[in-house]
Amino acid sequence: MRILVVEDEPSVRENLKELLASEGYAVDAAQTAEDGAYLMRENDYDAVILDIVLPDGSGLDVLKKFRQGGNAVPVLILSALGGIIDRVSGLDTGADDYLVKPFVSAELLARLRALVRRRYVQLDPVIRVADLAIDTKARKVSRGKRTIELKPKEYAVLEILARNAGTPVTRAMMWEHLYDWDYDGMSNTVDVYVSRLRTKIDRPGEKPLIHTRRGVGYVLGLEEA
Ligand code: CA
Repeated sequence: MRILVVEDEPSVRENLKELLASEGYAVDAAQTAEDGAYLMRENDYDAVILDIVLPDGSGLDVLKKFRQGGNAVPVLILSALGGIIDRVSGLDTGADDYLVKPFVSAELLARLRALVRRRYVQLDPVIRVADLAIDTKARKVSRGKRTIELKPKEYAVLEILARNAGTPVTRAMMWEHLYDWDYDGMSNTVDVYVSRLRTKIDRPGEKPLIHTRRGVGYVLGLEEA
């Protein structure tokens, strides 16, 4: 899951980046309306957290132009402006949710999860693939009666695979949703996470669910022998 944070206040921006990264999200950040608008045009985000009062303009204008262009990415406005009129105009402009600063981390994360779920038009928070169950609300994973503990990045890899179950997910797609815009890593890191995930999901004696597609990427699902 890849999130854009548009926020000019350095301490809030850094806190958000840290908070989201600790949950396994890949995070890009912009400090101005112009940079935010640019990144929103260039990248396919799972959600955007948008401040209203920015040094070079209003986050609402960014949002308005973006929606006029037909883009439906979920947007959560995070603003110090907490009046009814501010909230109503934010939602009317096309925001999916509105949270007033100062905010509580747990609430922000819960609202973000709700937005991402809605984007995938998935009412049941539990994704099931064969006997594997992924509760995207509680971020809990089990296979049969076995509970599986995953690190945030491993969970993020599994979630991308599960949301595309039966369809190969390319390394580039995984990369896009796992890493930050400026991340300077090596692409085989994706393979490292998949391999760690595989040892936890597919135990000896169980039917393998994670399959490699040479030259393409990975697919999650049961395969006929
Ligand atoms: Ca601001």
